[in-house]
Amino acid sequence: MATRRLYWENPYDAEFSARVVRTWREGNEVFVVLDSTLFYPEGGGQPSDTGIIIVPGTEAGKNEGKTGGLSRGFPVSFVREEDGEIVHVVNMPRDGSAGTFLTEFEAGSSVRGAIDWKRRFDHMQQHTGQHILSRAFEKVAGASTRGFHLGKDYVSIDLDVQVLGDDLIRQAEDLANEVVFKDVPVEIVERPWDEIPPGVRVRIPVEEPLVRIVQIGDFDACACGGTHVSSTGQVGIIKINGIDRSHGGVRVIFRCGWRALRDLAEKERLLSETARILSQGESAVPGVVGSLLKKVSCLEKEIEKLKRDLLELEILKLMQESGSTNEDPGKKAIIKIYPDKDQAELRVIARRVSDLTDKVTVVLSRGPRFGLVVAVPEAGESEKVSGHLQVEEDASAIVAKISQKWGGRGGGSRHLAQLGSKDPLKAGDDEVLAGLREILGLS
Ligand SMILES: [Zn+2]
Repeated sequence: MATRRLYWENPYDAEFSARVVRTWREGNEVFVVLDSTLFYPEGGGQPSDTGIIIVPGTEAGKNEGKTGGLSRGFPVSFVREEDGEIVHVVNMPRDGSAGTFLTEFEAGSSVRGAIDWKRRFDHMQQHTGQHILSRAFEKVAGASTRGFHLGKDYVSIDLDVQVLGDDLIRQAEDLANEVVFKDVPVEIVERPWDEIPPGVRVRIPVEEPLVRIVQIGDFDACACGGTHVSSTGQVGIIKINGIDRSHGGVRVIFRCGWRALRDLAEKERLLSETARILSQGESAVPGVVGSLLKKVSCLEKEIEKLKRDLLELEILKLMQESGSTNEDPGKKAIIKIYPDKDQAELRVIARRVSDLTDKVTVVLSRGPRFGLVVAVPEAGESEKVSGHLQVEEDASAIVAKISQKWGGRGGGSRHLAQLGSKDPLKAGDDEVLAGLREILGLS
């Protein structure tokens, strides 16, 4: 049997009495069907109501001084509709009282229910606002609403147009708010399907003998099963917050009533906080942030240049250091340990020094993470043929041996290989130098 929908009959009531039709349990959830309810079931873009179902205390329980004498409230977390029946989903406490609930809730027993009125009124504001805004976009831009979503934070409608200019958005917003400020009555009329007057917006076909039509003065008429305020003034402000592309159309994001007020208050807080940080008036914030970003971009470029210059100096210094050992024919490799260089810097240094000196170059950084780059000069091959070269000259083979000794992961080619670790290098400089000389075949 279809549940009597009290939320249609008395949309401003927050409490009601009803009789239990049936209950059943699945895990920690108990499902309750009542003969009538104020709880709106999720549907048509509007989320379900939440609230409590109250089990009255029994006289017998009172007389015996048992807990059965007290009324108990059980939270309703979700409500859905199944073939005209409205099903309340009740989350049971984990103390085992679900069983008590089920035994006290025999078919025919009476209960009371209370919906979360703040949540419901918010939904009524947003939903009525949606009707008004949808019609405003039809009038201003010839755009029909294809979808409606009432989310926890914002509300959105999907329009069947490809683009929507700022002018049309402002015009629709103004028109919608004009309808709000006129405080037009919102009335419900029921008509058989074949007697729906022309001009009524019908989005989703409903399998009911009578169609509920929500009429907003002579501004809009729309077939809808949701809950609405009784006059447009109660919607409060309708504020469009943004536009997104969506499924080949345009999604309009907006907020009404209390939501719009809270959202504007938060935005004002953010703006004034930003203005305070910048020591500027609120209207100066965009300009100041713009020029700060420009400044940062210039500084970043300058830092990049300084870093490159510094790197060139490092390279020169390393070449000078190695130049003093050039007379030693056995010295075919350059090794340098830095306290903290990033991998990109190590790569530049290793490659340049190896190219300029024709020597195998190993540069590493102890921290903040152990990193290492090995560069082997391209000319190495011919030298090997002539028999002069004594060092190991496959960069990836060198890296593999280093990784075995001090950890880290890496690899690369014959001429350039690198290694990186999550941790700093633990071994001391002397140990590392000796180890590297051994790996390179210098000792
Ligand atoms: Zn509606």
